[in-house]
Amino acid sequence: MTGPKNIPLFKVFMAPEDRLLPALRDVLYSGQISEGVEVERFEEAFGRFIGNTKVLSCYCGTAALHMALKLAGAGPDTEVISTPMTAEPTNLAILHAGATVVWADVDPRNANIAAASIAEQITDRTRAVVVVHYGGVPASLDAIHRVAAARGIPVIEDAAHALGARYAGITLGAHSEYVMFSFQAIKHLTTVDGGMLACRNPEDVARGRRLRWFGIDRKAPRTLVDVAEAGYKYHMNNVNAVIGRIQLDHIGPIVERHISNGRFFDRALPGIAGLEIAAWDAAAEPSYWFYTVFAERRDDLARYLAERGIASSLVHRRNDLHSVFASSRRELPALDLAYSRMLHVPCGWWVSDEDREFIADTLRRGW
Ligand SMILES: *Cc1c(COP(=O)(O)O)cnc(C)c1O
Repeated sequence: MTGPKNIPLFKVFMAPEDRLLPALRDVLYSGQISEGVEVERFEEAFGRFIGNTKVLSCYCGTAALHMALKLAGAGPDTEVISTPMTAEPTNLAILHAGATVVWADVDPRNANIAAASIAEQITDRTRAVVVVHYGGVPASLDAIHRVAAARGIPVIEDAAHALGARYAGITLGAHSEYVMFSFQAIKHLTTVDGGMLACRNPEDVARGRRLRWFGIDRKAPRTLVDVAEAGYKYHMNNVNAVIGRIQLDHIGPIVERHISNGRFFDRALPGIAGLEIAAWDAAAEPSYWFYTVFAERRDDLARYLAERGIASSLVHRRNDLHSVFASSRRELPALDLAYSRMLHVPCGWWVSDEDREFIADTLRRGW
């Protein structure tokens, strides 16, 4: 055996120096470091990867989410149905848009937002449903789309955890009116910071392009444009974009390794006393940003793993506990149960064959 283990829950992947640095140097000294050709090249390449070329790059995922909410018509006196089991930006973006957050309860199998609970919360004021594919496990998109489409409500997917995951045989990015990706440091693909909004309707792309740059169409002559809507400074620059383009050349094997490790745990962990693994629709193929288990005496398990050099965490605080969302609070029994037992363990590209065996053996020994 080798020395003591130290298996982190997250790790930044950066493309090899000999590929990244020459391209980055070219951009840095090109005289064109803001939004330009590199941004278009990254959007094209990313659009190909997700199978939807109607994409808008942004300086971060939160900005992309805020744009999606604006495009969907969320604003004062409207409601957006969302899940508390996510990173705070998912729901802060709803407040930034001026809308009211309405919580839906979760699917007890995987802590993703539940279609049945969404159905109960829809009102005439609902302008959007936000769906997070938590930990890279696709939510039940078929059932959610049925519920939302019946009332003509657009779905915004927050796919920040789920790059490369599939649903019904199709890579995430084209199932809903809006799909957001984040390229923040510890996501599957990082541009240091960045985000992408994939749209279904070309009109949303056209309006989004203006919305992300002060309400101005950058392609039009600057002194002839009319700013008709107060836009934002949300665009991506060429520096982040060139990092993204080179990173994208390497993303295939990275995502594959997350999936290979996740599937290893799917086979190795069932049957361990006191431990349940997450489950999902037959149509879902997760990209396993981390691996979710539900454990008896969860905090004891986390301590036991830490003593053996295996990082684990709940990662996110359920957002309904934050005082900024106090007015949205309601009973969420499925989330209560999931949140008291849930724990995430490492399964990313940095987890070797030996590491994953070690994690499975450590869990099998009991805590
Ligand atoms: C990272 C993340 C975001 C925010 O993305 P940024 O690029 O950091 O703005 C939103 N939602 C979820 C679920 C995330 O994990």
